[in-house]
Amino acid sequence: MQKKSLRLKPVVAVDIGGSKMIVALFSGEGRMLAIKVLPTLAQEGVDSAIERLCSMINEILSGNNLSPSECGAICIASAGAVDTVRGVVETASPHLPGWTNIPLADIIYKRMGVPTYLINDASAAALGEQRYGVGKGIKNLVLLTLGTGIGGGIIIDGKLYLGTHTAAGELGHMTVQEGGPKCGCGKNGCLEIFASGTDIARYARERIRNGEKSSLIDSVGEELDKITSEMVGKAAQNGDKLSKDIIAKAAYYLGIGLVNIVNAFDPEMVIIGGGMSALGDMLIGTGRRMVAAQAFSKSARKTSIVIGKLGNEAGVYGTAAYALDMKRKA
Ligand SMILES: [Zn+2]
Repeated sequence: MQKKSLRLKPVVAVDIGGSKMIVALFSGEGRMLAIKVLPTLAQEGVDSAIERLCSMINEILSGNNLSPSECGAICIASAGAVDTVRGVVETASPHLPGWTNIPLADIIYKRMGVPTYLINDASAAALGEQRYGVGKGIKNLVLLTLGTGIGGGIIIDGKLYLGTHTAAGELGHMTVQEGGPKCGCGKNGCLEIFASGTDIARYARERIRNGEKSSLIDSVGEELDKITSEMVGKAAQNGDKLSKDIIAKAAYYLGIGLVNIVNAFDPEMVIIGGGMSALGDMLIGTGRRMVAAQAFSKSARKTSIVIGKLGNEAGVYGTAAYALDMKRKA
């Protein structure tokens, strides 16, 4: 008998982030055939983003001589709290303002006539790295994405773990400093408030405004709002004291988070993805040392902590894998 997986139709994988949307077409065997990136333009509202997303899906299908009826599934990864069972983006604030209780899977299904699934973007990235990237073949892994915010994805026994309310993996909101600074989620002292790109850039701006010297001033002059986390990272790599200090602080709190993750999950690997992962060892070296010294189990102290391999494309690889898994089960 022919294997069912051989008969799967191509799928469209989408990753919606605060700044850009990535749309990719995958064959039924899971090979990427095409990829397009467009700005999310979140400030223009949900309807406008959905409109442009549908145009892009149509474009990528027609560009590969496919009609929507020849597409097996669409799977969307979204930032924020996502109800995967109902296909609803519950809230993606502050990264996608206005995305509250959006029945995205239904909306896209009605527009395109193709079965549509929805998952959290960091869960998608974890699945992407496990199927196609640095975690290929590994059964137990945890991924942290350090970008605008901090997301998490968990793979247990080779499967994506979504939790009871499909809300598992919010590792950016674990408390790493009791009574610490207030996070966007309303709680104090979350990992995200110390190590996300948004906050790394904000600390640099605040400390310069308070009179500290930094080479970042040479790049932006008076316009401190132009400072980005990438600029802080580059300045740190070039020896700027203020930037080095901010990255070292982020790395320390990330280290606390990593020790907690290793103690909770005993994974074989923890993968760091997202924009900040470009800093490599400067960001994760401290965490590696902390896990080696502090993880509860002696064996877990050997857990490998690595940078992701797929970069910004981890999410679409993972959404494609999720869509193909769902079709295989169907
Ligand atoms: Zn938080």
